[in-house]
Amino acid sequence: MAGEREHPNQDVAIRHRLAGKQQPFAIFFGCADSRVAAEIIFDRGLGDLFVVRTAGHTVDSSVLGSMEFGVGVLGIPLIVILGHDSCGAVNAAVDAMTSGDLPGGFVRDIVERVMPSVLAASKHGEVGIDQIEAEHVRQTAALVAQRSHLIADHIAAGTLGIIGATYNLRDGQAGVVTAIGIDVT
Ligand SMILES: [Zn+2]
Repeated sequence: MAGEREHPNQDVAIRHRLAGKQQPFAIFFGCADSRVAAEIIFDRGLGDLFVVRTAGHTVDSSVLGSMEFGVGVLGIPLIVILGHDSCGAVNAAVDAMTSGDLPGGFVRDIVERVMPSVLAASKHGEVGIDQIEAEHVRQTAALVAQRSHLIADHIAAGTLGIIGATYNLRDGQAGVVTAIGIDVT
């Protein structure tokens, strides 16, 4: 948060050591937004994070397949889902629900995948954009845990946890909004 970085695991020696085998400690699933670059904001290097990013951290079969590879093949014990403020995908979904107009092309696909989170947030009455973004993280975590049998099995077995958090672009601070299969209190 203070900008004091250690830049771990970014030298030539670690690059050589990792060439034959990777053993990342977490799957990072976050928004494709250029300001939410996983290794930079968490000050990590090569071999640390298995990163999957889509606009609005929207889930499709390739996302789930990538996560299943990370959990099932690489044996990663933690999935971190990171949303953020001023998210264009969430804003677009809110706009679509307000105006009734959906965007064209495959951007529509992104917006359609965020809309259930906007609906879920509206269950609680009039809510602000921050609450919608947090709800979208919770919905994304629940979706990942429900859709993938492999991930659900690992959670049930106690070998995998999911943490969902929202990241503040200006402060560089992330706050946990949900946890599945792991105690973060
Ligand atoms: Zn975003």
